[in-house]
Amino acid sequence: MSNPPEGSTITVRRPFDDQFHAEIPRVTADQARAAISRARRIQPRWAELPVARRAAIIARAASLILRDCDRVLDVIQDESGKSRISAFEEVMDSARGLRVFANAAPNVLRSRRHPGAIPVLTKTVEHHRPVGVVSIITPWNYPFTLPTTDAAQALLAGNAVVLKPDSQTPSAALLLAEIFTEAGLPPDLFTVLPGAGSELGPVMVAETDYLMFTGSTATGRQLAKACAERLIGFSGELGGKNPLLVLPDADLDAAAIGTARAAFANTGQLCISIERAYVHRSVYADFVDRLVAATTSMKIGVGHSWEFDIGSLSSAAQLATVEAHVNDAVDKGATVLAGGRHRPDLGPYCYEPTILTGVTSDMEVYAEETFGPVLSLYRVDSVDDAVAAANESRYGLNASIWSRRLGPDVAARLRTGTVNINDGYAPAFGSHAAPMGGMKESGLGRRHGSAGLLKYTESQTVADQRLLPIAPPPGVSNETFAKVLKLGIAVMNRVLP
Ligand code: NAD
Repeated sequence: MSNPPEGSTITVRRPFDDQFHAEIPRVTADQARAAISRARRIQPRWAELPVARRAAIIARAASLILRDCDRVLDVIQDESGKSRISAFEEVMDSARGLRVFANAAPNVLRSRRHPGAIPVLTKTVEHHRPVGVVSIITPWNYPFTLPTTDAAQALLAGNAVVLKPDSQTPSAALLLAEIFTEAGLPPDLFTVLPGAGSELGPVMVAETDYLMFTGSTATGRQLAKACAERLIGFSGELGGKNPLLVLPDADLDAAAIGTARAAFANTGQLCISIERAYVHRSVYADFVDRLVAATTSMKIGVGHSWEFDIGSLSSAAQLATVEAHVNDAVDKGATVLAGGRHRPDLGPYCYEPTILTGVTSDMEVYAEETFGPVLSLYRVDSVDDAVAAANESRYGLNASIWSRRLGPDVAARLRTGTVNINDGYAPAFGSHAAPMGGMKESGLGRRHGSAGLLKYTESQTVADQRLLPIAPPPGVSNETFAKVLKLGIAVMNRVLP
């Protein structure tokens, strides 16, 4: 397919009613290159500012997001089709995240003294230099908070950012650019590049210094390979097939409500939402009754009202995947305990929150990410079986454990980047001071926390050698020098840490 000509546009449709929402200019490869050059020119001046000055701008953006909450919610909902309460997760996450990152950055990024090669003679300092221009590529499912929080960490570290949003949801990222500008971010430091991934991705990899990607494992793998070829940094937050464990000592009322929320919030289109639940046989029957009740009482609908728990799926393609997974499972013998129906009477892409049992490994829904409101329930005989089943996946993003006492011990046995005890996903993701990311095929690298900030830097060690070099001084033989140094090393090894 040839690249679209300059002057062409992206048409955004509203998932709520499949009507026209916005027409956004599409950025070409040449325009992306020009934006990257402008970013590269301005970035050194931004990097020279004290971190506290950069942090003040990011903290101001957090306040503006709260001030403009309703407008941000409208834009997120209109492009993604999610419920207002799910859209609010994005406001909450970005406003709080930016403040946490801004508060932490001066300390995380400060230069640090380390013991030198030779005590007293070597003064060694580690600095964190920005990488330069950071590329960020984001998906449609969290179109505001992922651009906001990723860009904030890259900017705090002293970089310029170019960001390619998904073509279904460019307005949310463009609104973020407005907010950053009002907060005082100088021009050209943050540029949104709406356009095709296949056209802009190669330019971003070729011309920038780091790529932060959120999206599917397939695209992430392809981009990671391209970054490896250039030896630039890559971080990928990718797919998931996240497990939830209900253990014998769980509070079943809380577990049922929490499981429904963990599986169906954001209409299940959440990389960290739950798609598999392993329930101990001693509580299975009681839990299932409660879960079905909690699920069928969730209110589905479209629009800006706060009354709906679950909104629309984001597109016809998402609806097709959800229907394919459920139909395939039912055809092969699975049972639908709740939901299982497309609801065009509510909105063109509305689908009921769905619980399946009797899912077997020959069904697509067993191991493939649905990325929709579909939960498979499995009865297990022991905690060990629950742990083994949870870990039996090529993914390792998030897990949830419901238990009064066993949570921390079971968490240590799970191969996922985040584990939530007695909740589904929000506590770990919302702990912005701690890292978040995936093991196995769910990703590489981490966002949030100091890891999420330092990845946008190159560490530079500056060692200042005083009085004598680490070499034989004039008039001292190699042998004598080696003898003295050997003695010195023996002493250092005994007395120094
Ligand atoms: P996707 O990989 O198709 O697209 C994601 C982004 O990459 C979009 O902006 C898209 O335009 C761009 N893109 C696509 N092909 C590209 C290419 N060749 N070069 C450069 N950019 C390209 O993903 P999707 O299906 O739209 O998003 C859903 C996926 O994202 C799910 O698998 C989900 O689990 C994952 N996700 C992960 C996280 C996380 O934090 N781990 C968060 C949200 C979504």
